[in-house]
Amino acid sequence: MPTVLVTGGGRGIGLEFVRQYAAAGWNVVATVRSAGDGDALRAFGDVRVEILDMRDFEALESFGERLRGEPLDLLIANAGITSPGEMRTAEEANRFLEVLAVNSVAPTVLASVVASNVNAARGKMIAITSQMGSIADNGSGGWLAYRASKAALNAAWKTLAVDMAREPISIAMLHPGWVKTDMGGGGAPLAPAESVTAMRRVIDGLGPGDKGLFLNHRGETLPW
Ligand code: NDP
Repeated sequence: MPTVLVTGGGRGIGLEFVRQYAAAGWNVVATVRSAGDGDALRAFGDVRVEILDMRDFEALESFGERLRGEPLDLLIANAGITSPGEMRTAEEANRFLEVLAVNSVAPTVLASVVASNVNAARGKMIAITSQMGSIADNGSGGWLAYRASKAALNAAWKTLAVDMAREPISIAMLHPGWVKTDMGGGGAPLAPAESVTAMRRVIDGLGPGDKGLFLNHRGETLPW
């Protein structure tokens, strides 16, 4: 059975990816920050739980070493955080750095350290980004750090895609839609199950020639 690695598997969209891929019989490697979150995930099926805080770059590096030699059919770099839009205080500036670390730097380091695993399986690398990372689509402002972090994620993964043009893998950045989670809030129109079902369909449709795509959960191309 194929293997998928999902970051931030303990709740929200990540948890739903873990649930759906485990139900489909995949071997799932799910990262969480707190060991207690692992118990619920193991109940879904063949789920290996790894502790990983995306702010810990040394842990990310050694995580890649731990996976050495294991083919990975799919990476879903899902873990992410948001922040308010104000940027006046030192505290807000530090939060901006943290948002960049978790949303932009960490998924890019992770993709790089597991690239050989994904190559070995001729697999796929997916970043869960946001339409709010689109500079062209930014008509309403706000959410400064979050928007900037997803734009940086898109730029970084697009670069990975160009750098890995000859590798037999797919690389895409997916906007999940507006989803009812702790981050999306109760007013969001999509349930996690609907969003993840739709994104899995998009992921299934990717071929090795697909590199650096920026798509929504319906598979529509988004403007950079
Ligand atoms: P949630 O807030 O519900 O879940 C966030 C997940 O990220 C949790 O599993 C959380 O783990 C994990 N996480 C946060 N910080 C870290 C960290 N430092 N290290 C490791 N894991 C961490 O958000 P969603 O499920 O809604 O979001 C998932 C992804 O989808 C994010 O990248 C988000 O930006 C993106 N997205 C979501 C949208 C929405 O409408 N919900 C819209 C567009 C994009 P823990 O439980 O330990 O905190």
